[in-house]
Amino acid sequence: MSPVARTLAMVIATLTVMRNAEAPIAPCAAAIARDGLGVCCGTCGAALDPRAVGLRVGPPGAPWAKLARRGDPPAPAATHEVLTRHYHFTAVTTRPEFEALAAVLEPAWDAFAVELGAAPALAQDEWLRVYYFQDEPSWRAKVLTDCGHCPKAGGYYFPPTKTAYLYRQPTVYFTRVLLIHELLHQFHFLARTQNRKPTADWYAEGFAEHLSHHFWDGERLVLGVVPLASFENYATQARTKVATETFDLAAMIEGRVASTRPEQWALVRYLATREDTGARDAWTRLRRAMDDGAAAGAAFNRAIGSARELQPKLRAWLDATQEPWQPLWNEWEGIGDGRLRGISPGAVSACRVREPARAIAAAIEVPSAGDWAGGLLLSYVSGDDYTLGLVCADARVRVLRRLAGAWHALADRRVAPAKATPATRRVEARRDGPRVVFLVDGTEIGTFELPGESLGLAIQHCELRFKDASWTPLATPTR
Ligand SMILES: [Zn+2]
Repeated sequence: MSPVARTLAMVIATLTVMRNAEAPIAPCAAAIARDGLGVCCGTCGAALDPRAVGLRVGPPGAPWAKLARRGDPPAPAATHEVLTRHYHFTAVTTRPEFEALAAVLEPAWDAFAVELGAAPALAQDEWLRVYYFQDEPSWRAKVLTDCGHCPKAGGYYFPPTKTAYLYRQPTVYFTRVLLIHELLHQFHFLARTQNRKPTADWYAEGFAEHLSHHFWDGERLVLGVVPLASFENYATQARTKVATETFDLAAMIEGRVASTRPEQWALVRYLATREDTGARDAWTRLRRAMDDGAAAGAAFNRAIGSARELQPKLRAWLDATQEPWQPLWNEWEGIGDGRLRGISPGAVSACRVREPARAIAAAIEVPSAGDWAGGLLLSYVSGDDYTLGLVCADARVRVLRRLAGAWHALADRRVAPAKATPATRRVEARRDGPRVVFLVDGTEIGTFELPGESLGLAIQHCELRFKDASWTPLATPTR
């Protein structure tokens, strides 16, 4: 098919086909949290990770009654399809989720091509096939039909049909991670391994995990990052595993012991990003050998060296490579350096700096339309003892303490309306002993006596983006 015909087909197919309407779903955080906790790819039929983290949602009560806005009514699920330049994507879900996932496909292809230095050779009338489902039973039924078997997993790339299958994961972020993960297997196998699975799980899966951890702001996709804030938090899971006395990196590499996604992610990320002299060339040599089907132990020794000597370095690297933020309630994700997005259609939600903090600052990217409320988490001791400093769309600012199951207003005032378009609201807080001062666009809202050592970001009943987020650790002396 010519480029023009391909583009035309893409445009025509973008007019989504609706069929097989299914029962609507409730796209709220609580509904997603009740879904399964599948977190593992099934290229090898691996079992689910039993340590999958459950989700929590913010308190249902609305501290700001005026903003007690629920999310839009759930969109009905249907079968949506699109042909992009390289993908034929079918998703049985809501239109918003379908469109959000479809938008990632071509940026992922482009990023894979840069990372792997090659791309699958597609015939003129060939697109890579990808299926997405809302739940495990729908996914399983399709995989069984197409493949004749189905692993216990969250996604599956089946080489004989060159097709990737996956279903919704517990968070928006991890669903996108899994999509990129399965796309990566497909791309990697077709571009580099003659569509054969490499001999070692830690390599095939670790490579997919490393690249699928990403920043995505809706336009720009950056692969291979340490997430700013994720519930899955592979970095901490891997650090815990690698720190155990029985952890044996050589045995993991040689396949003598089973390994799970977090330490597979950690090993590949460490090898791919370390800055020692010759490390980049060593990683390239190892990749080439593994892609050619080499046995992992011998290939590792030739390209990298002694796993025994590397193990303490991997552990030290993990100590220094932790996610800087921690979601307290669903949903938060890093979308770029210093940029975070919170989604909470029906509740308060917050994330905090993972370490004790003395000061925090961020700029709210004011939405061009709609109601919103967002700002800072000024204290956090527990799910029933925390404080929010919220700016609202109408320039009202409130400081609210949640304690013993009730909201307490500590401040309520107006500030000057946001200027310019696109507008931002700069929010800052500084802790000095038991006192926390809160400022909006440089205007001091007040100083409050608040317990704990946590500072973070907060939203209520909206989706909101923050940029230029920064903090000062509590351990840093005051200047
Ligand atoms: Zn996988």
